[in-house]
Amino acid sequence: MTDDTTRDAAAPEAPRDFIREIVAGDLATGRAKQVVTRFPPEPNGYLHIGHAKSICLNFGIAEEFGGRCNLRFDDTNPAKEEQEFIDAIERDVTWLGFKWSGEVKFASDYFDRLYGWAVELIEKGLAYVDDQTPDEMRAARGTLTEPGKNSPFRDRTVEENLKLFGAMKDGQFAAGKCVLRAKIDMASGNINLRDPVLYRIVDASHPRTGTAWKIYPSYDFAHGQSDAIEGITHSICTLEFEDHRPLYDWFIANLSVPSKPHQYEMARLNLTHTLLSKRVLTGLVKGNHVSGWDDPRMPTIAGLRRRGVPPQAIRDFVKRIGVAKANSQVDLGALDYSVREALNKSAWRRMAVLKPIKVVIENYPDGEGEELEAVNHPDDAAAGSRKIKFTRELFIERDDFMEVPEKKFFRMAPGREVRLRYAYFVTCKEVVKNAAGEFVELRCTYDPASKGGNSPDGRKVKATIHWVSAAHAIPAEVRIYNLLFNDPNPSADPEIFASQINPQSREVLTDARLEPSLAEAKVEVPVQFERQGYFCLDRDSAPGRLVFNRTIGLRDTYAKDVAKG
Ligand code: ATP
Ligand code: MG
Repeated sequence: MTDDTTRDAAAPEAPRDFIREIVAGDLATGRAKQVVTRFPPEPNGYLHIGHAKSICLNFGIAEEFGGRCNLRFDDTNPAKEEQEFIDAIERDVTWLGFKWSGEVKFASDYFDRLYGWAVELIEKGLAYVDDQTPDEMRAARGTLTEPGKNSPFRDRTVEENLKLFGAMKDGQFAAGKCVLRAKIDMASGNINLRDPVLYRIVDASHPRTGTAWKIYPSYDFAHGQSDAIEGITHSICTLEFEDHRPLYDWFIANLSVPSKPHQYEMARLNLTHTLLSKRVLTGLVKGNHVSGWDDPRMPTIAGLRRRGVPPQAIRDFVKRIGVAKANSQVDLGALDYSVREALNKSAWRRMAVLKPIKVVIENYPDGEGEELEAVNHPDDAAAGSRKIKFTRELFIERDDFMEVPEKKFFRMAPGREVRLRYAYFVTCKEVVKNAAGEFVELRCTYDPASKGGNSPDGRKVKATIHWVSAAHAIPAEVRIYNLLFNDPNPSADPEIFASQINPQSREVLTDARLEPSLAEAKVEVPVQFERQGYFCLDRDSAPGRLVFNRTIGLRDTYAKDVAKG
């Protein structure tokens, strides 16, 4: 990195994507004294991982360059917006670790001023009330190759427009009767400039303004002017708004706004196996394909949190993928990588048997037991250790036993010696089956000289397996999550995506047995079940009925399975 003067303003480790370059340049030339950004969600659903990219960028830039970032709800469409979503969005932004500047802001805070600016446009002869039906308007809009046609109502006088717009505001017309449009150019090569709609009549109660307003501003009319009111210097949005920028600039140029913000566009986040659109996510929730917005299979921030993904994993992921000007698709494995990185560092280790089979240690005295020392984190001595009970009857993982072991299966099998983690070497002597031929228990012996799992005489075992004491273990339900869509590019078509849902996206194991210390697990706090993956307690837990979610497996078995074909 060269030694330019803007370096001082930015955190040294801040990656220099093109937006940060622009911000640094604007601070250097004085176009902006202080950078002011905003995150502008519409409260019509929960935030998803794509929004996290925008959040990390907007709040991150403000932090790195000593500026501020507003949280502003784009609440201009009362038909779809709800207080529940406002609350969830505030919670999610906070959970990700960001703090907005001052009070939460709402586009609805500016409805009076926006109305005033609409009147200003009418007075300047730059806006008119159009009585065409939606169909007529659509037909007159033209196409990418053909110009549109002027509305027969385009040349109404200023007085008439003022009177009609006032009547719209006063609720004298039914929804859909007429709209206010900017008078720009029906032949513009940019369709967004073909007399865009500024105000619609909407008959719905607004979460904040109730029924005070009968008309609501369009996104385009509200957004830039809200930016101007708040003194936003860099209004960052996704690429689909690039064609709206001339309109954004037209409003700023033609209205007496208090500041002159600029819009910048970046690529939106697209992820394999994932649909990031609130319309689709709403469909998954409303169609009961998932248990709710925070179902751990959802790509929502709330779903990821419930699943056990820590906020630093999301921030790390966003940092790694960077910010570009061209759309692309990120492999879901990149998110998994960041999740494992974060969890490996933070999660304490525990033993849990997900699908148990009983083991009886025949030469261990009945009714006796002992406590063994187990470390909480192999790379963090400060995490300390805990005691685990060893007794005559244990549970091991059903999958850690094969009666007729395959080649390369080194775990428990008849006649074979393996190590029980932290405990002893044990040898399987006999397999007990019921009348149906199912395994009931494994009868084993242990070598008392191998205490702590150390070889007494240089004897080698090829596997170490986890276990819990049968009498001490606590029962639990464990929910295993797999891809919601096996197809890397699921369809966003509402007729199709529901049929593409992976029927095995959630497996519920009802007979798991956990080491007793897991009774103290806390909701959403990650823990590693040794050899199994990362898990966290779910909020569905009740006293005596623990429920754990698998956040992610230890290794990327998905990539391996794909490679195997
Ligand atoms: P969706 O398309 O999922 O319904 P949206 O863009 O309508 O999302 P908003 O609430 O309007 O949702 O988005 C708030 C901010 O988050 C906007 O600035 C938007 O550009 C940004 N954003 C939304 N989706 C993504 C994404 N996938 N990647 C990056 N930024 C996104
Ligand atoms: Mg939007």
